Amino acid sequence: MRKNRITRRQFLTSASIGSVAAVASWGHPSFGTINKRASALAILGGQPVRTKSFPAWPIWDKTTDEELVLSVLRSGIWSRAKVVSEFEKKYAELIGAKRCLATTNGTNALLVSLHTLGIGAGDEVLVPPYTFIATVDVILLSGAMPVFVDTDPETFQVNPDKIEEKITENTKAILPVHIYGLPANMYKINDIAKKHNLLVIEDACQAWLAELRNKKVGTFGDLGCFSFQTSKNLPCGEGGAVIGDDEEIMDRAYSYHNFGRPYRSVKGRGYVILGTKQRMAEYQAAILITQMKRLEEQTDRRNENSNYLTSRIKDIPGIIPHKLYEGVTRAAYHLYPFRYKKENFNGLSRRKFLSALNAEGIPCSGGYTPLNKMSYLEDAFNSKNFKKIYPKDKLNIDKYSAQNQCPDNDQLCEEAACFSQRLLLGTKSDMDDIADAILKIYENRDKLT
Ligand SMILES: *Cc1c(COP(=O)(O)O)cnc(C)c1O
Repeated sequence: MRKNRITRRQFLTSASIGSVAAVASWGHPSFGTINKRASALAILGGQPVRTKSFPAWPIWDKTTDEELVLSVLRSGIWSRAKVVSEFEKKYAELIGAKRCLATTNGTNALLVSLHTLGIGAGDEVLVPPYTFIATVDVILLSGAMPVFVDTDPETFQVNPDKIEEKITENTKAILPVHIYGLPANMYKINDIAKKHNLLVIEDACQAWLAELRNKKVGTFGDLGCFSFQTSKNLPCGEGGAVIGDDEEIMDRAYSYHNFGRPYRSVKGRGYVILGTKQRMAEYQAAILITQMKRLEEQTDRRNENSNYLTSRIKDIPGIIPHKLYEGVTRAAYHLYPFRYKKENFNGLSRRKFLSALNAEGIPCSGGYTPLNKMSYLEDAFNSKNFKKIYPKDKLNIDKYSAQNQCPDNDQLCEEAACFSQRLLLGTKSDMDDIADAILKIYENRDKLT
């Protein structure tokens, strides 16, 4: 391949921009990698570091994955029945919880959890602003008030040291998110919850198999919620799950998700409690059962590749990989996040950095936008329900915004950059391409600014 052969001219080009010295000092000298960076930046018309695509997602195998789905189709039993129950049993075992309730998706897993734990009108729920919108939507949809706790920029997770200052007499629960599949600091969070008698619902919708001290996330709180949407590391199109150890709470969750019909300790006839319908279908469960067989191996690969990628990029000026909390024995890596400091790149904006990286053949995106600052909040405050529940003063959006400022998160939202989990399913050499593309942009930063 032309890409892997080094010409004298290319070598001199790279030497002249100082990369030989730089690479040597960063501990990864290699002619192969220098060569990949020798050409002009791809965004300026040069040869990209990489033209090959990364692994596609979702992954399935015709020979092993179709049988169960077909058997569901051919059985004519498509609504919730024994395949969903089998999945629930397997998933509870996998995560290490007593019970699992499959739901239509992760958003509804969260809604079922909030409802089952009695969180609603007038309650305040502590939540990070650095998450997917669903985490906050479900609080508002339950009639409760989201209270934002600033982010720890090093880990991208809710900053546990900023939780207590947000607790009021109305605080009912903490809703930590294991964002990107990196565990939040559940030890500190649970200590605070215990001290103040708060419920904990974990949004583990990106964190299948992630662990702290060999205990899986989702099992630390009163309930844990998961998503199986197509982009997620354990996908089935649309799907979700609630896990928990308390039999009566899980019975109530089950009943609620099935129109309030009796279920085990929820005794009675007909429709016992108020319910809705959040049932998973049989073919969704069939896909999950086959997908689950790959999850351990894929998770190991993502962890290995992430560690290697970190070792390759951590010393590049202006590139700050995420940190994991002490005690993290495994992360899920739904995405691999890092911070980009434009000061070290001649002021090159993150938007231009990402475009340059994409041009080099490395897909990379800019992470989340600050959820404590968007108009959906005002829309909720203007709703009939909110106006009935809360006094006018509480729905003053300017006052609310002032009380919910998260300056560390604001900065993180400007600096974050992420690689999708599917990139981490490649080889070590794929990780080298990612690192080389970043290095190449760093070395040529003056040509873009
Ligand atoms: C995906 C996701 C959800 C919602 O899950 P869906 O299955 O898409 O409804 C909630 N929270 C987080 C953090 C997520 O990533």
